[in-house]
Amino acid sequence: MKNILLIYTGGTIGMQKDSNNNSLKAVDFNKLTSSLPELQNPELRVHHTSLKKIIDSSNMDKNYWIEITEIIKENYTVMHGFVVLHGSDTMAYTASALSFMLEGLQKAVILTGSQIPIGARRTDAKENLITSIEIAASGKIKEVCVYFEDKLLRGNRTVKVNSEQFEAFNSPNFPTLADVGIHIKYNSNYFFTSNQKELNIQTNFSEDVAVLKLFPGITEKVVSSVLNSANNIVLETFGSGNATNKEWFITSLKTAINKGVFIVNCSQCLSGEVTQGKYETSSDLNKIGVISAKNMTSESAITKLMHLDGICTSLGEKKSLFIKSLRGEISN
Ligand code: ASP
Repeated sequence: MKNILLIYTGGTIGMQKDSNNNSLKAVDFNKLTSSLPELQNPELRVHHTSLKKIIDSSNMDKNYWIEITEIIKENYTVMHGFVVLHGSDTMAYTASALSFMLEGLQKAVILTGSQIPIGARRTDAKENLITSIEIAASGKIKEVCVYFEDKLLRGNRTVKVNSEQFEAFNSPNFPTLADVGIHIKYNSNYFFTSNQKELNIQTNFSEDVAVLKLFPGITEKVVSSVLNSANNIVLETFGSGNATNKEWFITSLKTAINKGVFIVNCSQCLSGEVTQGKYETSSDLNKIGVISAKNMTSESAITKLMHLDGICTSLGEKKSLFIKSLRGEISN
């Protein structure tokens, strides 16, 4: 008998149309599980719990992430695996954040949700939920993943790519961990295994992070206001990590770095990686001390900075941990 804990956080999967204004709002979790007779399986006992407050995932923040990790910690020894029901909008951020928070994880934490609510006729929720439970119970996965529409993806490599199709997620820079058809085909060569065998939850997350997305014509005023807004910046650049090399831009970044601001270079492209120095428009970034995020997703870079800013005691430590793979989020 395998025990699996469903942690309901909200999102479309558990929503219902409000008859007053037609908008989607969260329903009671007990109603949600009772609409799934498929969960009655003699080899599985599915338990469930919810966040204190059920949310649309657009309201996600570090306090909810801490609440999820604490639920996992409290139930860690008695459960074989965990399935987190989550809105799709910020699922990639939560998956990345949880991967950093759950150090030494030796069980599956599978995030899933749906594009259509579970009670609706054409829902994709049932397949996503039932397969996530099966994967969590398999004992094969020991990391945080996203399962959505036939694909099991490493959580911290995942991005939401579609708001209308059932296939809403992808991990453009990392292979699928399992492909689901009649059988669940696991790609075990790509599984993450932690050297640390004991769960240690890292809840010291900082919010001192900002994103500076470049676009042609961005002004000095915008750049300096973002650089002055936080001590950790994800610079979203073009292509393989390129940025304008206009003098004012490089000087603004250099001044910020000299003041101790930590700047990482993440590409706006979903696939491929940042190679600082490949073009003239990225060599200055190298020289002034911008750190390459290589092939990390922006979601992963943001949450990794939140994590590192919370635990590191020096810039040197932050830098050496940022460029290293902690949970398989970056290719070496
Ligand atoms: N707005 C919803 C959410 O992220 C969308 C979804 O669940 O797919 O909570």
